Amino acid sequence: MGMITRKTRQKDIIEKEIESMKNLFNGDDLFLKVKEKKIGKATVYRFLKNLRDKGKIHTYSCDRRMIYSKEKKSHCHFICEKCGKMQHFDVKKVDFIPKSIKGRMDHFQLNVTGICENC
Ligand SMILES: [Zn+2]
Ligand SMILES: [Zn+2]
Repeated sequence: MGMITRKTRQKDIIEKEIESMKNLFNGDDLFLKVKEKKIGKATVYRFLKNLRDKGKIHTYSCDRRMIYSKEKKSHCHFICEKCGKMQHFDVKKVDFIPKSIKGRMDHFQLNVTGICENC
């Protein structure tokens, strides 16, 4: 099997797995799914970076890690300043961006800090 064939096959396998991801996922989630098909971690991360550069996948930062999404959506955290507990929430509508900002809004990330109910 030539190098090009092998690369193409790996690409197909990874693409298929990304297709099956329903929510946000990280590189390790994806790697675990393709691991048994002899695809290395570096290949998985390189592939994700490539998709990101092409704008085919969206990235957010979650707990100092990069997470990915196929869809354009929001990624919001409520972080307790006392215990550090982090909770996720969704914001469907963006109505806090001033009218002076023109253009198409695609996706956004929010970090809200405060004190959780247990603290
Ligand atoms: Zn997160
Ligand atoms: Zn707390």
